[in-house]
Order: sequence, then structure tokens, then C-alpha cells
Amino acid sequence: MGTHYDTLGVSSRVEGEELREAYRSLAKRYHPDLHAGSPEALQRSAASMMSVVNEAYAVLSDPERRRHYDHSLAAEHAGRTRDGVQRRARPPGRGECDLCGHYPAVYAPVEQHIGMLVARSVRELNAELCRQCGLEIVRSMTARTLVTGWWGVISFFANFGALFENFSAWSKLRSLEQPRRRVDVDIVSPLSSPLPEGPPLWQRGGFVAFAIAMLLVSTSVVVDSMGSQSASTAPVSAGATTTAPPASALPAERAEEPLRASDLEGMCLRYTYDDRIRDVVSCTESHDARILRVVTSPAACPASAPYYFADVPIGSSLWTLCVDA
Ligand SMILES: [Zn+2]
Repeated sequence: MGTHYDTLGVSSRVEGEELREAYRSLAKRYHPDLHAGSPEALQRSAASMMSVVNEAYAVLSDPERRRHYDHSLAAEHAGRTRDGVQRRARPPGRGECDLCGHYPAVYAPVEQHIGMLVARSVRELNAELCRQCGLEIVRSMTARTLVTGWWGVISFFANFGALFENFSAWSKLRSLEQPRRRVDVDIVSPLSSPLPEGPPLWQRGGFVAFAIAMLLVSTSVVVDSMGSQSASTAPVSAGATTTAPPASALPAERAEEPLRASDLEGMCLRYTYDDRIRDVVSCTESHDARILRVVTSPAACPASAPYYFADVPIGSSLWTLCVDA
């Protein structure tokens, strides 16, 4: 195990802002929220890594505790160099797996997608991963997405995006060589070896559920197109916005009818904590913003609507929702 300096990846002379910055970037990497959708073993190791990082920062940011710590390090160092070997330790760097510290690794974001009929939520793991950790995570998160991702008209369509993202992560990871451990440095990482490889995707429960779901969907499409009123259910899913791609949804009873873009005018939106669209609701319910106009481009929004969500697919074209907050 390395020193507190190694844990934070900083030199022993680090001060003030540089120390805070190093702590913040690691806290971002290991924060439990970021791993909410990850396999349980991984959540546990991220949590334990987070506490190691917290402890290191607590000591180094407190001048008194740091002085004591430096003192004990110096004593320990004197003992260790008598063995003639002094190894450096540090957190995983570029090209090394954020989970197990092995190399080679690539940046491969993986998504788990949860459809909830009128809303959807996305869990993401953004990390550099080695082949073995990465493929296991892609398989486990994809299998879950195949079960949880389809529930709702909007989620159904948005889920293809999540699967595509995971597919591209999968193909990047597959081209990597088997992970190896560096011998010249000690790497402080949440896992000491790569995640064990689980069963292939098609042998996981989620895949079977997915196959059944596809069967149901194709049946309902056939039934739909045989009906005399062949009005198709209109998917509404929000695309790119000024800030981040929102997850959009319609109240369940409205999703039954074909939707015209203008139907959304006068409706209200609820946002997620990071200002994505969570729900489209009636304005009599609690809401974060009102949809003032639905137009073809942001430039056409009235001055009374200072914010907008652009490229929202409604029916067969893309619209801009002009909102007041
Ligand atoms: Zn790994």
C-alpha cells in the first residue's frame, strides 16, 4: 500500500489548491453515485477506495496531522530502504484500468438503462477499463438493460441508444490484449486483480427476457397495423439539448393517442437533478418549467422563453421546446 501522497497521486510538496484538485478528481471517480449501477463487488471496492482517499485528504489537508504523518513516513522510509528496494505506488494512470490497475485499458463508457413507463433513468459508468473488467461490466449492465430498459414508449426507443453505446464499448474492449500488471510500480486500485469473467451475454437472464419482449413487441405491431384506425403510437423522446441529452416522457394516458407537437404547448416539465427532462406533466401538478411554444428551431423561441430543449423527436420530426425555466 502506498502513502497518502501516492493515494492522491501528488508529490510530497503539494499544497492548497493542487491538493484539493487531486482530491476532487479522485472523489469524482470513486463517488458511490457514479457506481450505483455497477456490479456489487465493484460498488464495495469503490466505496472502500473512497474512504482511503478521504482519509488521505483529511490527513494531508490538516497541517498538524500532516506534520506527524510526514514524520512517521520518514522513519518508515529509513527502515524500508535498508532492504535496498523502494517501490513507488500511485493510482491507475492513463491506459490503466481504473478498477484493477492492469494495462492496457481504454475509456469505454457503459450504460444501464431503466425504463419506468413515464420516465427513464440512466446509470453510467465512465472509466478506463481493461479487457476483462470492461467485458464483464458491459455484459452485466447490458443484461440488466435488456430487462429494465424497455418499460415505456419513450424508454423503448431510447433504449436502443443505450445498447448502441454498450456495443461500441464492447467492440473497443474486445480489441484489447489480456490485462497485465505492471511490475515496476505498485498501483493503488479498488480491485487487486481484474473482475472474474462471467457467462456470455446470451446465457444471462436479461437476454432471455429480451427475446420474449421482442416477440411481444412484434406481435403488438402486427395487431396495431391490422386495426382500422392505424394511428401509430407516437414516440416522444428528447434528443440533444443545450446542456445534456434529456430523458423525456409523456403522461401515460396521453401516450395512447397520436401526438402532435402543438399538444405539448401549455404542458409543464419536471426536471431531474441535473436539469434533464424527467416528466411531461399537466401544469396543475408540481413542475419545474412550462412549455411555452413548440417550434422548429431554437431561434424561433419567443423572448419570454429563455431556455429550450432542441432536437426533440415528436412524431416523425425534430422540434424545439421553448421553456420558461
Ligand atoms: Zn481491470
